[in-house]
Amino acid sequence: MLFEDLSLSKSIQKAVYEEGYTHPTPIQEQAIPLVLSGRDVIGCAQTGTGKTAAFAIPIIHQLHRIVGSSKKAKEIRALIVTPTRELAVQIGQNFDTYAKYTNLTQITLFGGVSQIPQVDTLKKGVDVVIATPGRLLDLHKQGFINFDHLHTLVLDEADQMLDMGFINDVKKIVKLTPSNRQTLLFSATMPIAIRELAEMFLKDPAKVEV
Ligand code: AMP
Repeated sequence: MLFEDLSLSKSIQKAVYEEGYTHPTPIQEQAIPLVLSGRDVIGCAQTGTGKTAAFAIPIIHQLHRIVGSSKKAKEIRALIVTPTRELAVQIGQNFDTYAKYTNLTQITLFGGVSQIPQVDTLKKGVDVVIATPGRLLDLHKQGFINFDHLHTLVLDEADQMLDMGFINDVKKIVKLTPSNRQTLLFSATMPIAIRELAEMFLKDPAKVEV
């Protein structure tokens, strides 16, 4: 399969080709059509398999169609929750790369740094938020984050979030989002606590494994 077989908008195809990608990786080949169809997805995949693009590319395609070149105030339409600052930064860079020919904007939120620049950007409006759990809840509590327009929620590296003690924060975050959202869960391993989390928060999920 080639990227051009995935019916992605031209602006995304162009960005992907400029990265030198010709063929989707196995996780991308399976996950991208499912995400585009609106399904909830459980992806069992490690870092290095191309899993970031497996969720970032279809999210950008969907949001590009929803938002287009609209000049209206931006609303948060996708949220990616990930355990560490390093992962958040990497995911943010991926979004910037694949969305470079769209008008979509993203912010990466993590703790240990001043919240002032983060709050300034949130006030201007962004389409995509990529965040670690603690800072996200903190900024939400202060009223800087509104999930009323959220379309897609991604729980990335779910097993690592469990290991790092973020499971209750993750549950709190999911409960703040609209119940009609699309939910994607990625995890390298599927221990019982992660399967329970999926059962609690995903609707009839499709499972992809590499
Ligand atoms: P990830 O598993 O998301 O950490 O991605 C691992 C690496 O694979 C990243 O450096 C990506 O830029 C690269 N990558 C992702 N998808 C593709 C693809 N379809 N073809 C070639 N490289 C890719």
